[in-house]
Amino acid sequence: MTIYSIICVVFAVMIGSCVGSFLNVVVWRLPNRLSLTHPGSFCPKCGHPIRFRDNVPVLAWLLLRGKCRDCHAPISPRYPLIEFVCGFVTLILAVKVFFFGWMSIPGPLFLGPVIERAQSQEAAYAAGELLFSPPLETACFAALLCVALWSLLLFLILTVGLIEYDRNPTPGKLQITAALFLLASLCALPLRGGADLSVLKAAGLTTAAGALFGLLLFGRARWRIGLLLGALTGSVLTPSAALAAAAAALLALGLSAAAGRRLSGLALFIGLLAALILSPLV
Ligand SMILES: [Zn+2]
Repeated sequence: MTIYSIICVVFAVMIGSCVGSFLNVVVWRLPNRLSLTHPGSFCPKCGHPIRFRDNVPVLAWLLLRGKCRDCHAPISPRYPLIEFVCGFVTLILAVKVFFFGWMSIPGPLFLGPVIERAQSQEAAYAAGELLFSPPLETACFAALLCVALWSLLLFLILTVGLIEYDRNPTPGKLQITAALFLLASLCALPLRGGADLSVLKAAGLTTAAGALFGLLLFGRARWRIGLLLGALTGSVLTPSAALAAAAAALLALGLSAAAGRRLSGLALFIGLLAALILSPLV
């Protein structure tokens, strides 16, 4: 499994940093109501289209020493930084899921049945009822989906955070996406731990705490997105992980108080990422 795990982790990091590259485009174009796909990336100074090889996340910026190949205008280090952060997110999630097991990140949510099946296959193999180790595809599928869903949620929060950081209005489309996520995660709540009432109670509490926290974090102007993202984050976290997220976001919020509201979305992103990193420890 180790060699497959390494391949999956490398794959996840490549996808993550490429998504980061796309996220840079989204953060700039979406609030300005520009098409996300057309035209392709170009240098804002000389307008020359970016070559395919110069679009490789992080590496291209380093090789070009932060300058446009055509007009040598400096390219903001923010672009490779976002690509690096997104690659880091998928790296952390993939390493945890593939090397520390299914339960090393909280609340499988949507993946309840898939993960239960993989676990029962593992148990059957351990008991000698299966000749071969559990089918790789079930394990890889569940793990990759786990990484993909958490990444999607983190990238969504990062996108909102960066748009806010740029003092641009958060587009309604993102709020709708967040609402859909919230709805889906609420529908899937019973999957988190079967029909056990105590699990549902804990999930309800973390969802409510998350919603309240999001409201406080985003303030009056952005209360809808704060409520949605907060409730969403709370609904997928275990109480201990929610506590860690709250502590981390509170710390980030304290740090951002001097810089104003524009850092609140990024603070939520940092809080959730910290909670995911720390989740087996708390
Ligand atoms: Zn240029």
